[in-house]
Amino acid sequence: MSRSAHPAGPRHADVWPEGHYSAPPADVNALDPKVWAQTVTRTDTGEVSVGGIGVAALAEEFGTPAYFVDETDFRARARAWRTAFGHDADVFYAGKAFLSRAIVRWLHEEGLNLDVCSGGELTTALSAGMPADRIAFHGNNKSTDEITQAIESGVGRIVLDSFQEIVRVAHIAQSLGTRQRVQIRVTVGVEAHTHEFIATAHEDQKFGIALADGQAAEAVRRALTLDGLELIGIHSHIGSQIFDMAGFEVAARRVVALLAAVRDEHGVELPEIDLGGGLGIAYTSDDDPREPHEIAKALGEIVTRECEAARLRTPRISVEPGRAIVGPTAFTLYEVGTIKPLEGLRTYVSVDGGMSDNIRTALYDAEYSVALVSRTSDAEPMLVRVVGKHCESGDIVVKDAFLPSDLAPGDLIAVPATGAYCRSMASNYNHALRPPVVAVRDGEARVIVRRETEEDLLRLDVG
Ligand SMILES: *Cc1c(COP(=O)(O)O)cnc(C)c1O
Repeated sequence: MSRSAHPAGPRHADVWPEGHYSAPPADVNALDPKVWAQTVTRTDTGEVSVGGIGVAALAEEFGTPAYFVDETDFRARARAWRTAFGHDADVFYAGKAFLSRAIVRWLHEEGLNLDVCSGGELTTALSAGMPADRIAFHGNNKSTDEITQAIESGVGRIVLDSFQEIVRVAHIAQSLGTRQRVQIRVTVGVEAHTHEFIATAHEDQKFGIALADGQAAEAVRRALTLDGLELIGIHSHIGSQIFDMAGFEVAARRVVALLAAVRDEHGVELPEIDLGGGLGIAYTSDDDPREPHEIAKALGEIVTRECEAARLRTPRISVEPGRAIVGPTAFTLYEVGTIKPLEGLRTYVSVDGGMSDNIRTALYDAEYSVALVSRTSDAEPMLVRVVGKHCESGDIVVKDAFLPSDLAPGDLIAVPATGAYCRSMASNYNHALRPPVVAVRDGEARVIVRRETEEDLLRLDVG
């Protein structure tokens, strides 16, 4: 989405560098509700608050950098997905986007199911009281220990990802004297319109079994013959940060065609299909995501239509949104440090975090927004790049954005839409201490994942 606009601006009127920005915003103090969590607002003093608490008080109590999750917004989004899909469908929150015990409890209370893809995520989910039968276990290389843990704990389904795993899961289930409910993950050959590194439905990829050249049909054939397995359906996940429903339409059509072929060959109508996650959110004002009810309606219509055409009973649908639930509900709060204007280019604004708390910009060339949140400003906007404090020139948090030109060290700035794939992908690079996650709701803030300490780092270093 690189735009090559060269708007006239206060500091760079002659030459504007290449970048992702459009024109400076009309009001640099405005907070676009598309990218900020529901209860985020600017108070009369000009300070930004979330859940009724100002960012200065939050920074004072919890330090920076820190992630603040708007619990009211999280619950509202979870509920909106649940309500949109109704009783004939299941919503599995993709735990890899961000998982903690508080999140698990919120999901449980709001009636959602949960996807996990490692023993660690499974343990977290179970320890917070998610019923095992509402958990799905994913992954392209589940270990024997993980499969055993999943089956022994009674997970609702394991999503099989390879021919070897079909046999492995069947053997382990049988040796434990049980039959495991499973789905088979297929790759449908859909190229989702998103960044190449995060699209996962090309055939040339590590996930799933290709529908093409009869591979998936062969996988079904094998799964149906194994006593340790109860095959309940087919799974497809086509990518990430997708806005266009066309990819889901093709995926659904191809999955339903497989269900029809299975019915014709085996006389079995598999009762479920899972269409995965990958629904996009607004990282900047240029993104226009769809509402859960629109997505539910579109997916329901596609599947119903395809099943009618194939004279199949409509299967139970499940979806697996991760980013679309948690992404917009959190922001990262940073304190501004060194400010370095580069004449004719842009101003580098350093913050007290960086690629250790948000790797997505470096990894996926992701776009983010940013705002000055400790005060408002009447100063002219300036083109900035928000960078971290790591020893790496690719340590960029926000590539191109506008902040007021009177920005100064000590100001607080916040990057919205960091609820998904930021804390969950955080690292200790440069021995950074991973930031806390603080839940804010109705005037109360509480830590749900605490900040790492130097003792935490040294505890692992046993040399
Ligand atoms: C990553 C993933 C998801 C969630 O993707 P989002 O982009 O966060 O919605 C869902 N299902 C599977 C199988 C995944 O790998």
